[in-house]
Amino acid sequence: MDELQFDANGRLRHLITLDGFDRVRIHGMLDRADALRRESRDGACPLDLLHGRTVINLFFEPSTRTRTSFDLAAKRLGAQVINFDIARSSTVKGESLLDTIHTLEAMHCDAFVVRHAESGTPALIARNLRTRAAVLNAGDGNHAHPTQGLLDALTLRRQRPDLQDLRVVICGDIRHSRVARSDVHALAALGVRELRLCAPANLLPESAAEEFPQCGFFHNFDEAIDGCDVAIMLRLQKERMDLAAIPSEAEYFAQYGLTPARLKRARADCLVMHPGPINRNVEIAGEVADGTQSLILDQVANGVFVRMAVLAELLAA
Ligand code: ASP
Repeated sequence: MDELQFDANGRLRHLITLDGFDRVRIHGMLDRADALRRESRDGACPLDLLHGRTVINLFFEPSTRTRTSFDLAAKRLGAQVINFDIARSSTVKGESLLDTIHTLEAMHCDAFVVRHAESGTPALIARNLRTRAAVLNAGDGNHAHPTQGLLDALTLRRQRPDLQDLRVVICGDIRHSRVARSDVHALAALGVRELRLCAPANLLPESAAEEFPQCGFFHNFDEAIDGCDVAIMLRLQKERMDLAAIPSEAEYFAQYGLTPARLKRARADCLVMHPGPINRNVEIAGEVADGTQSLILDQVANGVFVRMAVLAELLAA
């Protein structure tokens, strides 16, 4: 993937996955996000780094946070943004994905932000471009969600700069989660002390140990969260899973939900994260999601600055 993502000088050409990103590169991107936050005064003062650039959002799967924040990020940097309306496009007349991309390229655009249910679609597009446009992966299947990995790392770094001291548990539907994969890539590269993955056996990938050599594995959430500094909760990816994988949502919540009582098993100042959308009382209790330890809305806010940083890195002159 490196040959696709980086040019001969190591400059980022496309953002498909964080797999292979090192500590220095990730900190550099987070520093840029912090700088853009300061320069834009928390987004209140738009900048013109991307003046004259065109960004096309191509979302083949639903999205609230990622799509809106990419849109805002590009606009706050002065770019023109097209939110391509797939349901009203010639895709429904049977036009292929690559024909759609080449058509849009013919009108001139500088970047495609792509979300797709099929893992590998952003890489496929990047390999078949006819122009110098950049591709940004906004989530593909269960493969990767690199800007989520970066925004989660930024959110944590802002709260706990000593990442190497942290014990982090990621709990939920790891098997189908692109967020878990990108979070592991980012947090392992940044050197967190311990990464624990917790899920029912059938919601861990079959080759979990090979895929995540950096992590410890748990099936019991009470044990997994014990002594942790951070708990990252994941939604059950019903659109990707066999619904028989869990007995019932109530049963799942009883075993894997983050309740106030379970949170007490972690360190007293344990931070709670979730990429959203949250399902209250399925993977997280409402009072924990809304509680003082929750960073869920900080993640959302930081998402805009991370996406500004990535767009600037790929497109600014
Ligand atoms: N919004 C995240 C994603 O698109 C997490 C989720 O949907 O559960 O992967």
